[in-house]
Amino acid sequence: MRLPMFEYAEAKSAAEACGMLADAGPDAALIAGGTDLLVRMKRGLERPARVVSIRRLRGGLPAVARDGARLALHPLATMAELAADPLLEHACGNVAAGARAVGSPLVRNLATLGGNLASARPCADTAPPLLSWDARVRLQSASGEHSVPLDDFFTGPGASALRRDELLTAVEIELPAGSSGSAFLKLGQRAALEIAIASAAVRLTLDRPGGTILAARVALGSVAPVPLRARAAEDLLLGRVPNEDLIREAGEAAAREARPIDDLRASAAYRREMVAVLVRRALTAALERAGGGR
Ligand SMILES: Cc1cc2nc3c(=O)[nH]c(=O)nc-3n(C[C@H](O)[C@H](O)[C@H](O)COP(=O)(O)OP(=O)(O)OC[C@H]3O[C@@H](n4cnc5c(N)ncnc54)[C@H](O)[C@@H]3O)c2cc1C
Repeated sequence: MRLPMFEYAEAKSAAEACGMLADAGPDAALIAGGTDLLVRMKRGLERPARVVSIRRLRGGLPAVARDGARLALHPLATMAELAADPLLEHACGNVAAGARAVGSPLVRNLATLGGNLASARPCADTAPPLLSWDARVRLQSASGEHSVPLDDFFTGPGASALRRDELLTAVEIELPAGSSGSAFLKLGQRAALEIAIASAAVRLTLDRPGGTILAARVALGSVAPVPLRARAAEDLLLGRVPNEDLIREAGEAAAREARPIDDLRASAAYRREMVAVLVRRALTAALERAGGGR
């Protein structure tokens, strides 16, 4: 598989990248780590005439920055950086776990957060953890900037609210008050270099350690056309003091909400069964981390 011919340009600022996209129209594509785009170009699935690199737009900024309760993740942060970031591990451990689950060390050294979200694959490993924290993404174009809840961002396999002329410039999380714990679990056929058969990310926020659930988020990967919030499972947990039965019921509710398909890697029925198991185990781990362990 050979790469087709294309023109290459390096943007020196976000504004310049937006200008280049606006000028080139639908024939241009952004490239960050290239682990998704270059594979798609080699397979002939994308044929941009112009490729605009945003690799140098980081400008020495950290992968993760915290300002009070607000966490900002840089879209050019690599999976390797996020996986090892102590701030992220402490505040939103399941996002770091999602980054650790991507590909192999080689892939994680190149793959960026922005690219993982912009690719909008149902199996994107950072998507369910970020959904569990109600993350928002900032999008910039030549005509301005706006922010979108990640929950509204994914619209279909490979499709999102991101326009062809827009740049994803930040991923933001407002950390909730209370005592939170989170977890991410991914099921694959192998331990590494594996696209998820199913994944689950959960976050529980308790009013106090051992107390009532103030907020519950259950997000699923690879079991629907988009990374999916399991809202019935979340509603079941809200306002309750968690116990084993409740956690099992929430796992079963999440499995009913999944919309899996049969493919080469697994059947829809197996995926649905695994959602119940992954959600139950993830909720148990998150509860312990939130200080509500039994
Ligand atoms: C061998 C292999 C294994 C993999 N395993 C996994 C895995 O286990 N889990 C997983 O989730 N993914 C996996 N991937 C997919 C891929 O590595 C990730 O999705 C990666 O995070 C993409 O980031 P990137 O920087 O390489 O994106 P790129 O390839 O540079 O870009 C991907 C797309 O996003 C757009 N884009 C990139 N950055 C921005 C931005 N800031 N604003 C707007 N658009 C942008 C590009 O235009 C392009 O359309 C794997 C890939 C390979 C090759």
